[in-house]
Amino acid sequence: MKTIIFGAPGAGKGTYSTRLKAQLGVEVIAMGDIFRAQVKENSELGKRVKSYVEKGALVPDEIVVEVLKQHLDRVPQGAGVILDGFPRTLEQAKTLEGIFELDVILLLDVPDWIIIERLSSRRVCKNCGAVYNIRFLKPKVEGACDKCGGELYQRSDDSSDVIKKRLKIYQDQTSPLLVYYKEKNVPIITSKTVTVDTPPEPLVEQMLEELKRLKMI
Ligand code: ADP
Ligand code: ZN
Repeated sequence: MKTIIFGAPGAGKGTYSTRLKAQLGVEVIAMGDIFRAQVKENSELGKRVKSYVEKGALVPDEIVVEVLKQHLDRVPQGAGVILDGFPRTLEQAKTLEGIFELDVILLLDVPDWIIIERLSSRRVCKNCGAVYNIRFLKPKVEGACDKCGGELYQRSDDSSDVIKKRLKIYQDQTSPLLVYYKEKNVPIITSKTVTVDTPPEPLVEQMLEELKRLKMI
């Protein structure tokens, strides 16, 4: 299964793809996680992308595409792949065409007001990147990761002004990709969230059911 998990910032792409990875053993390539790890390491790539990531702006396509290709090259033959955070622009979608045989899109449909509520209380593990929410998806021990005990922190782009900017970029540059994929007849599985405290598990279950129905897994 080759798929893209698609949705606004804060829709839950990381949360869902981590769970799907655990259930299906697929590879997840999460662009945001890759960039944040490089920024933390202060690598050459990290230095090039830092200002974009912190401001909530898109990293230039040439850089993103290069990084994606490197990661796709490392995927074992025949393994399933979930792309999280790619493509975000039409240019990126076009690049993907030659290098990734997309079977299906997983769309997370979440209203803006829920996204804003969630992002402002989101926390991420410094060590493994697991995502929590201090109001809606609490860790067992306050401030610590359930999986590895790592310290939880708030992303610098999860401040209210940067959140608004990221949502605007999603509306303007990323959401039009759905039209593009509809025109190409790529199947889309939509998972709709209507309440702010909907836990991910039942939605992940529904997604797995749909994937089975489409014979993707
Ligand atoms: P979000 O919660 O906004 O979906 P991500 O963790 O996926 O956040 O991405 C964080 C940041 O990394 C983005 O705001 C952007 O600066 C950069 N980034 C990630 N993926 C891409 C991409 N495909 N194109 C350009 N920039 C990207
Ligand atoms: Zn952790």
